[in-house]
Formats: sequence, structure tokens, C-alpha cells
Amino acid sequence: MSDRPDSRVSRRGAARWTERQHPWIYRSDVLSVPDSGPGVVRVLDERNAVVGMALWSPVSTIALRMLTHDERSIDAGFWHDRVQRAIAYRESLGIDASAYRLVHAEADGLPALVVDRYGDYLAVQFLSAGIEQYRDAIVSTLVEAATPAGVLVRDDVPIRAHERLPAGVHLVHGDVPDTVDVVESGIHWIAALRTGQKTGAFLDQRENRVRAGTLARGRVLDCFTYHGAFALHLARGAAHVTAIDSSADALQRAAANAARNGYENIDFVEANVFDAMRTMEAAGERFDVIVLDPPAFAKRKDAVSAALRGYKEINLRAIRMLAPGGHLCTFSCSWHVGRDQFGAMLESAATDAGRPLRLVEWRGQAADHPEILQIPESGYLKGAIVEAW
Ligand code: SAH
Repeated sequence: MSDRPDSRVSRRGAARWTERQHPWIYRSDVLSVPDSGPGVVRVLDERNAVVGMALWSPVSTIALRMLTHDERSIDAGFWHDRVQRAIAYRESLGIDASAYRLVHAEADGLPALVVDRYGDYLAVQFLSAGIEQYRDAIVSTLVEAATPAGVLVRDDVPIRAHERLPAGVHLVHGDVPDTVDVVESGIHWIAALRTGQKTGAFLDQRENRVRAGTLARGRVLDCFTYHGAFALHLARGAAHVTAIDSSADALQRAAANAARNGYENIDFVEANVFDAMRTMEAAGERFDVIVLDPPAFAKRKDAVSAALRGYKEINLRAIRMLAPGGHLCTFSCSWHVGRDQFGAMLESAATDAGRPLRLVEWRGQAADHPEILQIPESGYLKGAIVEAW
């Protein structure tokens, strides 16, 4: 049936997919490599039984990314079905925003493919040598299924270097403006599709921003504000918002976003959050709502203890600065810091602050960034909303 080259894998490698439903097979479990460049291959187990079809990446430690449990041709129809399924899921969510994730890679059965929608435009990332071979087919499918006015490929990501793929930003369909006006539950913000972080913005925090907005009142502090997205949702109901970031460029956009919404109650402060919090705490400042949305402090496993010390420091200061009944919305997007570790860090910060904290709710990434339980890597954002006594 398949005219694709074969790869044989160890029993352990095969079981990851056949039993545990995890689509990655590591290089160390590949017994014989396909005699071909990157692309679709048929995967066989030690007894030559078919494990399924996979995307093969010759230089990555994640050698095979499984696509199916059976043997079949991976053609335009295959990509179309998977993309349609991803779109149908987003439609079922009733998202009140013009920007959201359309394809969340492995979690949508489309390994190493990220597609974000910003209104009429799509921003796409091809993150493995295997999926890279199907760029044209996937872009055609996306154009057909999502009818965008333009498609931009954001291949300027370090992860592509692990696959020896070139970096770059390419327009592959229609036209894409440098900035797109996004509406998110009534708040406007501008996404910089060519230059912004990720594909232009942090879409994974969408539901958390809207939720934080429902708590808005009095004095608010938004730490690591980037383009001000949390601050904007909070400014609607707060008397005053202080929004901090170390990037002057990010704050310029944040100020433009505030003006776009007509908010004059946000002060944008260029500072290192660690220093600013120390100063504010020493000055006895109090806030009714504090948001902590730092970048990933632990980018690697060996950085976890240092990262936890960093998370604890900012959370401890935030807890101390909460007014009675104040809310802290706190997050970590480090995959290497698990939910349990995050919870333990928060408990320990509350203990050191000597303040009981009422758990309002645990939070995660927005539903358009689905998490597959068997694929822990698909879920990385965790957080909590807590209330001070
Ligand atoms: N909350 C934002 C995303 C935050 S991304 C949103 O919802 O869109 C993290 C931000 O932290 C970046 O803008 C980065 O410039 C900033 N940053 C990183 N380290 C910092 C530090 N030590 N102090 C202040 N800002 C920092």
C-alpha cells in the first residue's frame, strides 16, 4: 500500500505510540533508519508489524513523529482531514476573539505544525524537518479550509536549528500587513505578525486575561505586561493599572494599545520586575489585583531550581502586596516546572508571607491550545488565582 521508505523501531519505541499514544519515537529507539531524507515513512516494529506512518527527522533526537496507527498514504486528503478537524474543534469553542490558535501541533494530530489565526490572516510555523517537506500541501489546505486573506510563515524560531532548518519569515499566500487589530472579548490590541513574540502575540493566555478582567477593581499591578494585554482587560474595571515590562519596544505597543481602547488609567513602567517589586514592597504599596505572567524561567531541566527561586521571589512579594481580599493571578509557562511544583512554590510563598491564601481556581492554557493527557508536552502553561485574607 505505502511506497514510502521504512523505519524499524525497538519494542519500547513502538509501545510509546501503540500503547501510550505518545507520537514521539526517539532516535535511540530507531533500529534502522529510512534510506531517505526527511518526510513520511512507514514505521515497523521488531517483528515487522506496521506501527503506523510517521514524519521522519534525520537529525533530531525526536526522530519519528507518528501520524497514524495504520498504513496509508499521507496525501492532500490526509492533511485536509486533520486541518478540518482542528478547525471544527475551534468552532465548537465559541471563541469570543478574532485571534486564536487553529492548530496546536501534536495535540491536533499535526506534529510540529503551529497555525495561529489573527482575523483574516494566518501565521504558521513548521517546527520539524519532517513536516517541512509538506509546506506547500499544508499551506494549500489552510487556504482552502480557512480562506485567509494572507498566510505568513514565521520560521524565525530557534527550535528549527535543532532540525537544521533555515530561519526566516515568508509570505506564502496573499498579503499580510505588519500589524493586525485583534478584538478579544471587547478589548482591542494590535498584533505584530512579522516581529512579535511567538507568532505575534501570547494567545495561550486569552482566557486567563478575560478571567482576570472580571476581577478588576481599585489598584491593579500587571507584571511582565508585554503589549499590555492583561492590563487592558483589567483597565476596564480598575481605577488604576501599573503595567511593568523590561522591554521599551513592547511598552510602546502597549501604550498604543491603551490609546486604541481609550484607556488613560494605565501607567506603563520600563523596569526589571524583580527590582520594581522590591521597591514597591519597601514603599508599602498595596494592590487589589496583581498579575504575574513571566517568561519561561526554566527553559531547560537543569534550570528548574533556579526558576523556582525566581517564581517564589515574585510570588512572595506579590502576596505581601495584596490588599485584604486582593487577588493574585499567577502563571508559569515553563514546561519543566510541573503543576505540582508550581503549586508547592505558591504554597511556600504564602507560608513565608504568613498569609492564608484562598484558592479561587487553578488555571491553564486557553482551550484552543488543547492539552492531550498522554502528550504532556502539549500542556505547558499553568497558573492559579488566589485571594488574600
Ligand atoms: N502577559 C503578556 C505576555 C508576557 S511575555 C500577555 O498576556 O501578552 C513576558 C514578558 O516579560 C516580555 O514582554 C518580556 O519583555 C518581559 N520580561 C522578561 N523578563 C523581565 C523582567 N525581569 N522584568 C520585566 N519584564 C521582563
